[in-house]
Amino acid sequence: MNLLLMGLPGAGKGTQAERMREKFDIPHISTGDMFRAAIKEGTTLGIKAKEFMDAGNLVPDEVTIGIVRERLAKDDCGKGFLLDGFPRTTAQAEALEQILADTGRTIHFVLNIDVAEKELLARLTGRRICRSCGGTYHIIFNPVNVEGVCDKCGGELYQRDDDNEKTVATRLQVNIRQQQPLLDFYQEKGYLRHIEGSQHIDNVFKEIEEVLCQAVAKENK
Ligand code: AMP
Repeated sequence: MNLLLMGLPGAGKGTQAERMREKFDIPHISTGDMFRAAIKEGTTLGIKAKEFMDAGNLVPDEVTIGIVRERLAKDDCGKGFLLDGFPRTTAQAEALEQILADTGRTIHFVLNIDVAEKELLARLTGRRICRSCGGTYHIIFNPVNVEGVCDKCGGELYQRDDDNEKTVATRLQVNIRQQQPLLDFYQEKGYLRHIEGSQHIDNVFKEIEEVLCQAVAKENK
């Protein structure tokens, strides 16, 4: 299955993507994670991406499309993929259609996780991540037992550079502005399915499974 996961920052895409990767055995491709890895490694890509990310802006299309094109050409994407955080602009969506058409593929479903903006602001500024295992917590909604220490592996927790209040507000505005044309684009193509993202994460995943099962059953009829 070739899937796209959409939703504003903090909607829970990463958490759901991890579960979907396990359940459907397809690679989870997050452009945000790819940029963060490049920054950590100090590559040219990382240096270029960092200035945009730190300001809460999008990395330019040509850079982002290039890394996705390379990633989708890898063997493990033959059995399907789950794109998370891409596309974020209409130019990226059009480029993706072309990349897939060039390799005889198509998108099957686009899942949009809906969460109200006010809730997203609280979720993002309180988010903490483990440096060792990548586990995510929230200072109020999902606190750790010992402050600053990961419950699962004992690793040190940190706050992402772009999760501070000022950058989060900018990120949300940028993403809201850019998301609507994409939703329209995929709605028109008939790929779009909405998921209620304010419920418990187990129920969000249940809804995703239901939507995918129904959609697959319909396709097979
Ligand atoms: P995320 O982890 O998806 O919230 O992404 C973190 C940051 O990476 C974003 O705020 C952007 O600066 C950058 N980024 C991730 N994906 C994209 C994309 N598809 N297009 C442009 N910039 C992106």
